[in-house]
Amino acid sequence: MDESDCIFCQIVDGEIPSHTVYEDDAVMAFLDANPLAEGHTLIIPKDHYSTMDEMPDAVGAAIGRALTQLAPVVENSVGANASTIGINNGEDAGQEIPHVHAHVIPRTPDDHGGSIHSIFGGTPEIGDDELTELAQDIETRI
Ligand code: 5GP
Ligand code: ZN
Repeated sequence: MDESDCIFCQIVDGEIPSHTVYEDDAVMAFLDANPLAEGHTLIIPKDHYSTMDEMPDAVGAAIGRALTQLAPVVENSVGANASTIGINNGEDAGQEIPHVHAHVIPRTPDDHGGSIHSIFGGTPEIGDDELTELAQDIETRI
């Protein structure tokens, strides 16, 4: 996707209005237009990166900092004590807008939303030997 076609780049540039709640040099946060709960907020890098792996470390750190600061503030604002924080990182994960964005979704005991685990039907059978091998493989790739 060309950046000029990107809805979130257009929000950063002020070409599409948004309910902005936070902005710094690297990051912007605004309310989701189709919230899953009151206070549902999106945190995005101001520069266009489709997925997390494209982001420089400093931008990832800025997103992390903004999440740490904003999540409790958003929760407090809507009277929640918890939030689900997540990133649909890539099309196969359900990412619809190809500009990195972290969702902060305030949670309440009676919202019937489930945990991140509830996205999946169950857990695949993976033995301990396989976990050991997998952990080693990942470690060597970092
Ligand atoms: P994704 O599925 O890509 O992780 O989530 C995209 C999110 O962006 C959705 O929650 C959707 O409601 C939100 N969204 C899509 N278009 C707009 C928009 O123009 N403005 C705002 N504020 N949110 C949007
Ligand atoms: Zn973009």
